Amino acid sequence: MKLECDVLVVGAGASGLSAAIEAADHGAGVIVLEKNSMPGGSSRLSVGSINAAGSSLQKRAGIVDTPDEHFADMDHFMGPFAGKDNLALRRLLVDNAAASLEWLMSHGLCFYGPTADPPHRHPRMHNVLPNSRAYPYYLGRAARRRGVDIRLDAPVLQILRDEGDGGVRGALARIGGQPVEVLARSGVVLASGDYSNDPEIKQRFRPELAAIPAINPTATGDGHKLGEALGARMVNGEVVYGPGLRFMEPSQPSLVRRLPPSWLLGKLMQWALNSLPASLFRPFVMSFMTASLGPEAALLRAGAVLVNREGRRFVDELVQPGLAIAQQPAGHAWLVFDSRVAQMFSGPPHYVSTAPGVAFAYLPDYQRHRPDLYHRADSLEALASSVGLPPDALRQAIDSHNAGLVTDTARAGGVVQGPFHALGPLESRIVITDGGLAVNTSHQVLRGDEVVPRLYAAGAVGQGGALLAGNGHHICWAVTSGRRAGRFAAQRLAPQPLA
Ligand SMILES: Cc1cc2nc3c(=O)[nH]c(=O)nc-3n(C[C@H](O)[C@H](O)[C@H](O)COP(=O)(O)OP(=O)(O)OC[C@H]3O[C@@H](n4cnc5c(N)ncnc54)[C@H](O)[C@@H]3O)c2cc1C
Repeated sequence: MKLECDVLVVGAGASGLSAAIEAADHGAGVIVLEKNSMPGGSSRLSVGSINAAGSSLQKRAGIVDTPDEHFADMDHFMGPFAGKDNLALRRLLVDNAAASLEWLMSHGLCFYGPTADPPHRHPRMHNVLPNSRAYPYYLGRAARRRGVDIRLDAPVLQILRDEGDGGVRGALARIGGQPVEVLARSGVVLASGDYSNDPEIKQRFRPELAAIPAINPTATGDGHKLGEALGARMVNGEVVYGPGLRFMEPSQPSLVRRLPPSWLLGKLMQWALNSLPASLFRPFVMSFMTASLGPEAALLRAGAVLVNREGRRFVDELVQPGLAIAQQPAGHAWLVFDSRVAQMFSGPPHYVSTAPGVAFAYLPDYQRHRPDLYHRADSLEALASSVGLPPDALRQAIDSHNAGLVTDTARAGGVVQGPFHALGPLESRIVITDGGLAVNTSHQVLRGDEVVPRLYAAGAVGQGGALLAGNGHHICWAVTSGRRAGRFAAQRLAPQPLA
């Protein structure tokens, strides 16, 4: 069986749907193939924030901000990867960020903010309302309204090569369980997300992280591999964010995640967040935060220890605990601390977790919203029974930890004074990866220094060496690069120079 179109898009996350809309707006007949049974990928699982300078929301709040300042502020997030960024792509991101945000709003998405997100010098974080399911919902709707044919449960298995010029002519996919050739006259846009859950790619670039699972189980780097099979090259594959510590998800998604992505609801929330006292929303926001975030390292520095299901300490908590947690029975660990630490993290300035610029969650918030995670008891033995750990092993672990503290100056104290507290289970997860296929500033995929004719990459797979550290840059990149790649594919852009 064969299907034909002008532009074929691989993946229906934020980048793929943006590419499809823009290609359709430039006159192309578009097919989107999505391997999962619902669209959205990581975009749908995300918090949904976008950092952008010069937005209408900033202007309404009287904030004067520029892409140049945004460009400079991104330096603060690069950490050990400073010097590896593709600055031409960073430029393209910051110059188009506000326009991408306005474009999303024009399709019905609603944002709250801008909120502060230091070390960004101005408040420029825009948070999607009511939740990130709004991305596939509104972008999918806009694509379908333009006649885009979105096929779900349709994994792309191979990109088909045009033997004439060495470019691409479509893809082989499995649709309805059958192999189908999808021919694309103008171009193929890879928009298949990242490789955070692909052991093989992680093994190549960061072997120590290969076995650590990701938050998004279907982020398996398919587009990276499809591109590599055509001779394309990966850039910055070693840039992997994580492993991060996360509390186990509650059995029911939080209230915020369950809200339907309705425009009216978004507008209502936007008005309420801007006009009513923050205390009214705290319980609502907390149900989200305590369900989706992990603990701050400050809790460990203050004296909390990590124990596994056997009640044993297994790691120096201050040295990459995420790696060790992944190797524990069931991949689980618990934070154990005493009343001194509990008191400290019960109010400002010491928080258990934070969504920057939005809110802080303290210990009583976990007690209230995550009783499944929180345990408290007068003795260590009673705490162990409450959690389901062997009491003798926990007592022994804490006693020997306290005894060793005499020489440990990095921690503020031991686990000494009851009542005792535990939070967990905690898991270790890879969050995002930043390695992408090498592309030029027209999002054309490169094979050496040559463009692969008619092959584009957007979003995570099309990062081309752009480093998107910090909050709110990934989705902005997905939308910005997706729109541009879709447009260029529809316009049958001639191969552009490398820069
Ligand atoms: C928990 C979490 C929170 C985050 N929060 C934020 C945030 O607040 N702000 C921010 O900017 N970024 C955030 N991110 C990162 C951001 O969500 C992603 O980087 C971004 O959404 C990637 O968009 P994408 O379109 O490239 O990929 P995705 O959204 O992952 O979409 C890729 C799609 O391609 C499909 N696909 C893959 N392979 C194939 C194939 N072979 N055939 C067909 N379809 C295929 C996938 O199923 C998926 O639907 C977060 C990520 C996580 C995990």
